[in-house]
Amino acid sequence: MRDVTTQETRRISLYVHVPFCETKCPYCDFNTYARIEWLMPSYIKALVREIGLWGRLLGSPTVHTVFLGGGTPSYLPSEDIEKIMAAVRVDFVLEGDAEITMEANPGDFDARKLESYLAAGVNRLSIGVQSFDDGLLQKLGRRHSAKGAGDAYRMAIDAGFDNVSIDLMYGLPYQDAGQWESTLDKMSDLNPVHVSMYCLTLEGGTPMEQWVKSGRMPEPDPDLAADMYLSAQERMREQGYRHYEISNWAKTGMESRHNLTYWRNEPYLGVGPGAHSYMLGLKGLPGYRFFNLKSPRDYIERLNAPLDELLGPSDVDMKETIENVAVVDGVEDIDKDLEMAETMMMGLRLDVGIEVETFRKRFGGPPSDYYGETLDDLVTLGLLTTDDGSLRLTHRGRMMGNQVFSRFF
Ligand code: SF4
Repeated sequence: MRDVTTQETRRISLYVHVPFCETKCPYCDFNTYARIEWLMPSYIKALVREIGLWGRLLGSPTVHTVFLGGGTPSYLPSEDIEKIMAAVRVDFVLEGDAEITMEANPGDFDARKLESYLAAGVNRLSIGVQSFDDGLLQKLGRRHSAKGAGDAYRMAIDAGFDNVSIDLMYGLPYQDAGQWESTLDKMSDLNPVHVSMYCLTLEGGTPMEQWVKSGRMPEPDPDLAADMYLSAQERMREQGYRHYEISNWAKTGMESRHNLTYWRNEPYLGVGPGAHSYMLGLKGLPGYRFFNLKSPRDYIERLNAPLDELLGPSDVDMKETIENVAVVDGVEDIDKDLEMAETMMMGLRLDVGIEVETFRKRFGGPPSDYYGETLDDLVTLGLLTTDDGSLRLTHRGRMMGNQVFSRFF
């Protein structure tokens, strides 16, 4: 009997990818598509099958967080969210106090849809506001207005959501300091319990990257972006938010539990086209990262077969079992060195950093056993502190995060 259950796969986070967007934003390189709405019904059927398949393979693991992301989950009919969550409850053991987040775009939902999300168990919304400046929203190709974003936030609160996060972007072409301050003002007026702020990255192959390359759009100024980040830090501190991760702020106890799974380098399962998963191995054995094929159409087609054909033979090891799953497109071994380096990189993104004792329990020795010289260097450069049994980035270290992280690889 096939069984890839391990101690470490029994309690996981679950990511559900929704590959639909009404329009494609010009800066976005996520695996999402506009004008494939006709695939929605067959996609939901396929997704429910994939959830069932992993439930069987992993022995119905306990799920402590669910994140419905994409793409635009709020673009789906709300009945589809109910179907997805019903499948999760059938095939996994959903913890009673599980955090269940759904990404939503302003303008996609009304009071009826919000009620349906709550009934499905969704208890956290992450609203993609990006800016409270109408001109910038237009340039970003967003479908909503600044007023629409504020109204959407208030509607969610009125419907009974007490955990609503707002996403903002800075470092944008055409964005000046005044616009950013005004966006921060409007965000502050709403007083959300959680805010994510991301600096625009011009991803290769996106229309916006082409526009900047060809001179049709001005190149964002990195110094201005750094000033915007500093000003956001200051503002959020004054308003009582904890800057718990490089790009995330929360009121006490309102941190994103799902994203903490990633930053703590803990196991998660991703379902849907292009979704990534990370499973730790048994003690001493490598873990695996694996990812699904990207095309929604191929994903749906592959899942349109009897369950046994989707799983492959049962007398093989864990890696082969995963490779044989019909929608899995690749599996990467995660050996101890890589797991440690990734744990350092992700953990140092957090304000609490890495607890030496937790690291020792997981890897058999403290970080200094493996990265002694590197840690000494980073301390000397003023980028890292090693007080109170934890490793933490300094304020300067946070500004230079990528340079610090690369030292562990
Ligand atoms: S709505 Fe979000 S996921 Fe969809 S294209 Fe825009 S940025 Fe990408």
